[in-house]
Amino acid sequence: MSQNHDCGGDVRVDDPEQFPPREDGYQRLWTPQRMSYVLRGSADDGAAKKPKNTECPFCAGPRKSDEDGLIAWRGTHVFAIMNLYPYNCGHLMICPYRHVSFLTDLTDDELFEFEKASALAMDVMKTVSHPDGWNLGINQGEVAGAGVATHLHQHIVPRWNGDSNFMPIVAQTRTMPILLHEQREAYAAAFEKLAPSHGLPLEGAPTQDHEEDED
Ligand SMILES: [Zn+2]
Repeated sequence: MSQNHDCGGDVRVDDPEQFPPREDGYQRLWTPQRMSYVLRGSADDGAAKKPKNTECPFCAGPRKSDEDGLIAWRGTHVFAIMNLYPYNCGHLMICPYRHVSFLTDLTDDELFEFEKASALAMDVMKTVSHPDGWNLGINQGEVAGAGVATHLHQHIVPRWNGDSNFMPIVAQTRTMPILLHEQREAYAAAFEKLAPSHGLPLEGAPTQDHEEDED
């Protein structure tokens, strides 16, 4: 149908009843990994009503199984964990087990393994997904942009030529071609294979649950 307007010319106005039933012009970005947030809220009665989970995620992660905690590798002093809010596909973080805020809080042994594990993580990514480059970085303190300012973590973000697109700018959305648990499995296998060549342990500190089981 069409209507005449004073400004001249015909202006087409679509009749809603003529809209196709399915083809609405929107593309669908399927994000099944988001289900982990949905289920987390519903599985724990009342958890969804809490204003904010205040438990430190980097202290809680190692207490869980590797699968549930998204842990890719456990060293003696530090561990590698998938980022729940990845800047890019395959975004890992290296964290000390101890709840400390700054690089200057680490002991020499922790500091050594922290950096060794970061290099190991780069080799793991080379093996698994062949990135063209990396962004490594530590935001220390809230003012510096740390999401979890109280527990030190080094971001290790693989980059590929052409990996950035318009989606983060126009839609506040990052597209992720692989699910977190699948990426973790691939990384865990590569960590197990490569850790000895970096002089790092295959299995590090036991989970707290295991410690409690032994009590
Ligand atoms: Zn912590």
